[in-house]
Amino acid sequence: MAEFWAVIPMAVRKVVTLGNPVLRQKAQPVRKITKAEQRLIDDLLETMEAYEGVGLAAPQVAVPLRVFVARWEGQTYGLINPVIEWHSEEKVKGTEGCLSIPGVQAEVNRLLRIRVRALDRNGNSVVLEPEGWLARIFQHEIDHLRRAPSPGGTPPLPGSGG
Ligand SMILES: [Zn+2]
Repeated sequence: MAEFWAVIPMAVRKVVTLGNPVLRQKAQPVRKITKAEQRLIDDLLETMEAYEGVGLAAPQVAVPLRVFVARWEGQTYGLINPVIEWHSEEKVKGTEGCLSIPGVQAEVNRLLRIRVRALDRNGNSVVLEPEGWLARIFQHEIDHLRRAPSPGGTPPLPGSGG
């Protein structure tokens, strides 16, 4: 059975909730992408699925690094050191929840469109221009990397969390 586990390296990690100090820490940039960071992304994806979220940031599994994952409309994202380098002026309201603030939903104003530069799981530079709900998810997760989550300042999504 050892071989069996060897081919299933992913693992569901525990999502920490409001009150855990790691959520108030500013996440640090990833300096080097090693197997550990790739494993982190895989685990974040697995954990997001298990908790039925649409996004999850590394601090939410008690790892203070600038990494988050998201899944929306069949597409999966795993981004390292994300930076919002452009955004629309227009904002839109939407109701969000957060896996780290169970049971709470809040209406949050978000930028309609953003352009994000980041590294992918393999260290390639990527530029994404999400709009609408995906832009909202990205903004929610990036908020987790810079400050504590708050019901009015971070979100999640219809019936699910990030
Ligand atoms: Zn959240």
